[in-house]
This record gives sequence, C-alpha cells and structure tokens, in this order.
Amino acid sequence: MSETLNHTCSICGSKYHACVGCSDVKSFTPWKTIVDTIEHYKIFIILRDYTNQTIDVNEAKKLLLQRDLVGLENFNLEIKNVIGEILEIEDSKEAKVIKSKK
Ligand SMILES: [Zn+2]
Repeated sequence: MSETLNHTCSICGSKYHACVGCSDVKSFTPWKTIVDTIEHYKIFIILRDYTNQTIDVNEAKKLLLQRDLVGLENFNLEIKNVIGEILEIEDSKEAKVIKSKK
C-alpha cells in the first residue's frame, strides 16, 4: 500500500488514507474525513450527541453497548474517558448526572 496516511481517526487514533478531493465521488463518504471505519463513525456520533446533550447518558450507554467496542483500550485517551464515564453509569441513575462541563 503506497497511499498516504493523511488522516487520523478521531476515535482510535489510527492513521489511514482518505482521498478528500477525490474525483471518485461514488466511493467517497463524508465520515471518511473523521474516522477510519463506519463502526468508529457510529461511536463518534454517539459521543457527539452525548457531549452535545442531544441524548442522555442512559441512551448513550444503551447505544454504545450495541456497538463493537473492540480495541477500546487503544482508543484516544479522551474518547476512552468519555466511554468509560458513560459505561460506569448505573441504569438506575437519572440523566441529571450529566456533567455540565466537559
Ligand atoms: Zn478508528
């Protein structure tokens, strides 16, 4: 593979290739500029919605548990911390536990 690794995954920090100005628009997907895999994009969306408080922590946990968190220990520290924070939440706790500051 001689492709330039011009992107870094926002979730796992892996370097990967994505052709941003590619003329081959058919194979171009917008998330390719943020993360390396569709699975990491789904995680990215959950964390984004949680951070923006579009979904509460219980919803975020439910969604995260449906995802493949393989390689979690190698994710970006910041990402790992947020995921850890979400997964630690007891189901009985209310959404008020959402921190107002990041
Ligand atoms: Zn990734």
